[in-house]
Amino acid sequence: MTRIMWQMIKDDLICPFVDLKTEYYDLGLKNREKTQDQVTVDSAEATKKYGVAVKCATITPNAARVKEYDLSQMWKSPNGTIRAMLDGTVFRAPIIVKGIEPVVRNWKKPITIARHAYGDVYKNAEIRVPGPGRAELVYTAEDGSETRALIHHFEGPGVIQGIHNLDSSISSFARSCFEYALATHQDLWFATKDTISKKYDHRFKDIFAQMYQDEYKAKFEEAGITYFYTLIDDAVARVMKSEGGFIWACKNYDGDVMSDMLSSAFGSLAMMTSVLVSPHGYYEYEAAHGTVQRHYYKYLKGEETSTNSVATIFAWTGALRKRGQLDDLPDLVNFADKLEVATIHTIESGRMTGDLARITTLPNPVKLNTEDFILAIADQLKNE
Ligand code: NAP
Ligand code: MG
Repeated sequence: MTRIMWQMIKDDLICPFVDLKTEYYDLGLKNREKTQDQVTVDSAEATKKYGVAVKCATITPNAARVKEYDLSQMWKSPNGTIRAMLDGTVFRAPIIVKGIEPVVRNWKKPITIARHAYGDVYKNAEIRVPGPGRAELVYTAEDGSETRALIHHFEGPGVIQGIHNLDSSISSFARSCFEYALATHQDLWFATKDTISKKYDHRFKDIFAQMYQDEYKAKFEEAGITYFYTLIDDAVARVMKSEGGFIWACKNYDGDVMSDMLSSAFGSLAMMTSVLVSPHGYYEYEAAHGTVQRHYYKYLKGEETSTNSVATIFAWTGALRKRGQLDDLPDLVNFADKLEVATIHTIESGRMTGDLARITTLPNPVKLNTEDFILAIADQLKNE
């Protein structure tokens, strides 16, 4: 469904106003199959070349999609491939509008998730263990020496998984978070499960602690903000009781799960911005939600859909604003600002998609279909 919205956004909100000089990489499943996923790699290379990208949600195929699209293999998640190539941290913040109140009533300010974008389960190796046998972790150093750890002595079938991360990537994750906290003047929270994962998660904790001590403690104190580390389960409990207004740094998987929880609790999966900031200065803007498959099947049947395009619009405005800032194009920056304001004002005037109409506190909201909502924003844009 996002592919359909993507085209409407370009046609109605971007192309009439901006002379786009973009390069386009079609990450639709058909083209990934046709290019044997080379297009995904090419798109990440282009992001490195130009420094700014905007990405539509993509399908990560499962068994059903392999059949539906007649795929030669179960292609990996494009986001996983791209993030592994760009490295960095994904920052996700709720888009706050009047009339859409968070379900957690003590949340007064937005909570920004900083999601590490490299490694862990997204770059794993897995084996379906067929039967009895011994599973070990083996690290072979360049001189040939080995370090081994027993995973499990299997007496029957099961599963194993190997994951990794890099000190360099964890460091750049930590640095992005500290810098972002200073830049936005917000406290920074970080949480892992280091009591259980005494080497893996503990490494994350240590790198953050060391960098904070060596480089950021004084700056944080001067700015009047704090860095706070706790266990992930404690963090979840505290987040629920907080007022918001801080950055919550999460390991890759925690960030995936927690950003969906936060965006839903702040209103809708579609009311959240998402940007990957790489340590090399590349920016990739996207919507945090998926392709909204259930709506697409309705659309294919000719039924009316009311899919919220806000996150995808904000992915575009984020990318255009960044391009404008990098190339010193104030008109482009202004346009991005205006389009965001028009989007928010459209909702605040009572015109919105079904996901918001269901929960708004505004009286008499008008529920618009997918395209009419985008057209309403186009109309509002004239008044901004
Ligand atoms: P999804 O696309 O995020 O949608 C899940 C549900 O959330 C929808 O059915 C809908 O609820 C609601 N929703 C999400 N976005 C919405 C929007 N813009 N407007 C209105 N409602 C919205 O997740 P999915 O359907 O489980 O996944 C579909 C595909 O997306 C999968 O192939 C998955 O791999 C992929 N995916 C891609 C990305 C990415 O590229 N960034 C991220 C996540 C998932 P209702 O049905 O109740 O209306
Ligand atoms: Mg997700």
